[in-house]
Parts: sequence; structure tokens; C-alpha cells
Amino acid sequence: MTTIYQHGTLAQLVARQMSGTITVAEMLEHGDTGIGTFEGLNGEAIFLNGEAYQADSTGKVHHITDKQTTLPFASIHFDQPEASQKLPFKKIKYSNLTQNLKDEQLFNVFSALKMHGEFAHVHVRIVTKQEKPYPSLLQVAEQQPEFKADNITGTLVGYYAPKVFGGPTAAGWHLHFLSDDLTFAGHVLDFEATDVDGTLEIFDNFLQHLPINNADFRSMNQDIVGLDKAIEASEGGKD
Ligand SMILES: [Zn+2]
Repeated sequence: MTTIYQHGTLAQLVARQMSGTITVAEMLEHGDTGIGTFEGLNGEAIFLNGEAYQADSTGKVHHITDKQTTLPFASIHFDQPEASQKLPFKKIKYSNLTQNLKDEQLFNVFSALKMHGEFAHVHVRIVTKQEKPYPSLLQVAEQQPEFKADNITGTLVGYYAPKVFGGPTAAGWHLHFLSDDLTFAGHVLDFEATDVDGTLEIFDNFLQHLPINNADFRSMNQDIVGLDKAIEASEGGKD
């Protein structure tokens, strides 16, 4: 049995609920590898080897040692290389990632992609911290700083979600990057890997956890019309 654990929903961020409702410590009870964002969309979260990292909107990377730091939305799983498929390539571009994994029959299952090695190019975006009253995710997405790095060594990690789960999460790929030297990280817009090893882990469980003790979440008006487009524009799930 393999499980991806998700706290909160992307739809909730579109509906302006960005308060931190789970701690890093609680997330790490459910996995050691994953992605997310921090309270008020204070940067991009990367979980790797049971540690949490933050890329802030100035482009700096922080190792989050305060395990009480909170997140409104995050996904995590236990990395199980022995129970995962080895990636069938060493070189890959984002634009042909899905095509090169077509034998894995991704489309109707949740999976985690993890690859480590040399990247000729990585292009990321980092969400900017917001204050209450929170704006919509879409408004935030329109002003996210972008960063690029060439010839960098690091880990690309994230998920593929089936189209039918667009709303709770980003349909398609949602990937983050963290460089080995902790100088570069973020939400991946594009990449070109030149010498990587990695795995694809398929999950048979999707565990959706909701912040039931958060009053704003309980009373929010979740607008469904236009949700797909707002998530696509902001979180950029790629097919
Ligand atoms: Zn992201």
C-alpha cells in the first residue's frame, strides 16, 4: 500500500483561505518527501529526506528547523525507491516528460516523480507572502517572481494527479526543485535534465485531510465556476 497524504486543497487557496492549518511536524508524520506552500503563501515548500525547506520570494532557500511552522496546503508521501519504477531516461525536458513516461500509464493514478542529478536549466516561480485579508490565488499568481539557473545539481520532486482531481489539487504535473547546495529552489515552470536518476512511485491511496478546526475554512464560499482555469493559471498543472 502506498499513500499520498494531502492537507488542504488548491481550491481553498483560490477561495482565499491561506492560513496555516497544519505544522511541518504533523506533515512529516505522513511522509518524508513532498511539496506545498507556507502560511500566507510565504514561499514554496519542499520536503526531502524528512526535512522541510522553503524558497522565499527573494529566491533565498531556508532549511525550516522550526517544526511548528504551518502550511495551508501540502502533499507528502514516504519515498520508497524499492517499490517504485526507475525512470527510463537520463535526459529529459519538461515538455516531453509525459510522453517519455507513457508506458507507465499515468493518467488515472496519483504518482510521485523524484529525480536527482544534473540540470542544464531550471526555471522556477516563487509565490509571495500575503497578508490578511488574503487575495485570491489567481491575483497572487499574476505577480510571482521567477528565477532561472543553468548547470545546477539538485532534486526535482512532485506529483502527477489525474484530471478528475483538478480542484482538490493541480491536475497533471506539480513539481518543485531544490538544489543540492540550497541556493536555488521553487515551483517548476520548466526544466531540462541532462544526467539524472530517479523514480516514479504510484499510489493506490489518496488521503485528503481538511482543516476542520479552521473557522475561515468552514465558512468559506468555495466558488466552483472558473476553478479549473484559476488553478491552471496559478499552479500550472501540466499534462
Ligand atoms: Zn508549486
